[in-house]
Parts: sequence; structure tokens; C-alpha cells
Amino acid sequence: MTTEFIALYFCNMYIDYLIIGQGLSGTWLSWYLQKENRSFLVIDNNQGNTPSKIAAGIINPVTGRRIVTTWMIDELLPFTWHAYSEIGHALDITAISQKNIIDFFPTAQMLDAFRKRIEEGADYIHSYPEQNHFNHLFNYDFGCGEIRPVYTAHTEIILPAWRTQLRKSGSLSEENFEFNQLVIKEDKIHYKEITADKIIFCDGASGFDNPYFRLLPFAPNKGEVLIAEIPGLPDHTIYKKGILLAPLAEKNLFWIGSSYEWDFTDIQPTKKFRDTTEQILKSWLKIPFKITDHKAGIRPATLERRPFVGFHPFHKSVGILNGMGTKGCSLAPYFAKQLVDHLLHQSPVLPEADVNRFHKILARS
Ligand SMILES: Cc1cc2nc3c(=O)[nH]c(=O)nc-3n(C[C@H](O)[C@H](O)[C@H](O)COP(=O)(O)OP(=O)(O)OC[C@H]3O[C@@H](n4cnc5c(N)ncnc54)[C@H](O)[C@@H]3O)c2cc1C
Repeated sequence: MTTEFIALYFCNMYIDYLIIGQGLSGTWLSWYLQKENRSFLVIDNNQGNTPSKIAAGIINPVTGRRIVTTWMIDELLPFTWHAYSEIGHALDITAISQKNIIDFFPTAQMLDAFRKRIEEGADYIHSYPEQNHFNHLFNYDFGCGEIRPVYTAHTEIILPAWRTQLRKSGSLSEENFEFNQLVIKEDKIHYKEITADKIIFCDGASGFDNPYFRLLPFAPNKGEVLIAEIPGLPDHTIYKKGILLAPLAEKNLFWIGSSYEWDFTDIQPTKKFRDTTEQILKSWLKIPFKITDHKAGIRPATLERRPFVGFHPFHKSVGILNGMGTKGCSLAPYFAKQLVDHLLHQSPVLPEADVNRFHKILARS
């Protein structure tokens, strides 16, 4: 062996998987790989205000003005409760809580729509017996209903706790991933001193510029939120009146949002959102509040509102877990597990989520 060969051999790191990103997607992917005793390294550049860091963590079984049941929710609710409880137990944190939504109807039409859904026998939507229960806290002229069960994934606790765990086990590299250092082979990849069987991108909104996947139909969506101190507001439920008011883990702190913007010029928080939301709060809340923060992030949403999961049809060692859109808290654990089962047990990825549905588009990358 030459000295050069020995130096190269001992500097190299050989792992099964290189994961780019430790948002919800990278967290759950690495969690399931660890459960299967696979070796991996997560590279994350710790960007501020990523959606995983500013999400409310709400797993809401219904959505939109017409209060329709969200995609796959009957399966996702029990799955996510189990998954977050399990990671919480392993990390000795509370990772998930049930916090149902009290839905205050902003208009008579919304009240009618809610009642109609109850009459149709829709799941998860319930009348609220004590209509005056919140009179001392909120102004509401058209009554309220309840959405139940609703879960909150405590992302602000889970992400740092898992990061600490990754750091301790030497499975985290806190750096920016650079594409010009990546060499793709048929059955492996090289990145700097690392050789891995596969690389899997969980890079969220950065994925819009990822040379392997940028042709996918991403639809970036900007979301803004306010954080407020509201002493005296009970924290065992989420409140909704057009916007959501959700309790955070820290006492008296609430998350208020959010906006959904498809057309935007930058990723900064805007005065318009702050002013409008503050006005809504002033007319809705009867108790004092103080805004303490204002954040904005870009959701990695997709045109058909379904995630991108699986391996590049023409670069078999390059994978993706992205496109979680507005529902990363429930979709990321579910599809991370599916991707790991696909990798290790050859089970199929759900066709609606499988990135191979875009093989014609990806042939051009
Ligand atoms: C305001 C707002 C509220 C939301 N509320 C909810 C909610 O209540 N419930 C819900 O289910 N979903 C919610 N979402 C959506 C949810 O947050 C996202 O679907 C989810 O966080 C996406 O996670 P991700 O891991 O795929 O991406 P990200 O969170 O973007 O994570 C990507 C990671 O990759 C890293 N990275 C990127 N590029 C590189 C690189 N080149 N080198 C190294 N590291 C890199 C970043 O630092 C980051 O840590 C919300 C989103 C927003 C914006």
C-alpha cells in the first residue's frame, strides 16, 4: 500500500446513507434508519426560520372553508400519534399532545357550513355544547364548534432534542452541503471524504434549486406567523377564527397564523401581515396580548399537493423526501417510514407520493 492510499483509506468515512437536511423530513428519515441499525450522516446548515422551525405543529383532520377531511387522515392520525409518542419516549420529551380546535365561526355562512357537515355525518366535526363558555375570553357572534381529535407535534422541542442526539452519536455534520463536491456513481455516491450507498435529499425549500430534482413541480408557499404572550388564555385547546391561535410549549406563549401566499417577492416578514393579524386579534380577544416575534418561512409545497418520495429514476443512488407542503408534521413521519421500508424491505412507495410519477420530467435532469 502506498502512503497516499493508506491516508485516503483511513480518512474515508463509509456509511449506508447520507441525508441532507434535518427538518422534519430529515429527522424522521434518520430516526427510522437508526431504528433499523443503519449507518448514516445528516448534513444540516441550520438555516433560521425553516418551516420545520416555525410551524405550529398542528395535525388537523379537516381543512379549508368547506371543512373537508384531509388526505389520508384516518391513517395518519393513529400513525403520527404512535410515531411522535415513540420518539418522545426515546428522547425523554413530550413530543405530541392532543389539543382540539375550538372553531369560532366568523360569519353566519361558516356556521351553516359547519352545521351542514355535522348533518352529513362528517368525521372529526362536533357541535360544542357550552356556547357561552368562552365569552370572557373572545368576541364571537356566530357561535363555535369543535374539531376533534387534533394533535400538536412539539417541533420546537423535537428538532433540537434529535439534533443533540445526532451530535452525540457523531451522526451530524453542521455545514452547508455543496453540490460541486458530490460524485454520483451507479451504486454509490462520494461527497468529500464520505462514501455512501445513497444520498437522500430532505432539503425543503432548497430543493427548488437541487440539480437532481429542481424540475419537479414544486409550488413554493410563503407563510407568516406572529408569536404573542397572552397571560390567562388556557393552553389546552387551539382557537380558530379564520386564523389559528395555538399554544406553544412555553407558558403563556401562543402561535398565531398563518398566511398562505403563492406570489411573493422575498422571504421577509411583512408589515401588512403583522398589522392585519394584530387588528384581527384586537377585535377577537377580550384579554390583553403582547406580540413578541414575527417570522416568515417558505413551505416546500407542490402543485398537486402530494409529496415527493423515493429515488431518482435515472440516478438510483439519489433519493428525495420533500414536498411536504402545509402538512409536514403528519406526512414527514409517515413517508419517512415508507421510504425506509422501501429501501430495506422493497415495499412500494404510495404511487401518489412516489417521485417516479415524474420520470419523464426527471429524464431531463
Ligand atoms: C408558517 C408555517 C406554519 C406551518 N404549520 C404547520 C402545521 O401546523 N402543521 C403541519 O403539518 N405543517 C405545518 N407547516 C408545514 C411544515 O412546516 C413543512 O411541511 C415541513 O416543516 C417541511 O419540513 P422539511 O424537513 O421537508 O423541510 P425544512 O423544514 O425546510 O428543512 C430542510 C432542512 O434542510 C436544511 N438544508 C437545506 N439546504 C441545505 C444545504 N445545502 N446544506 C445543508 N443543509 C441544508 C435546512 O437548514 C433545514 O434544516 C407550516 C409551515 C409554515 C411555513
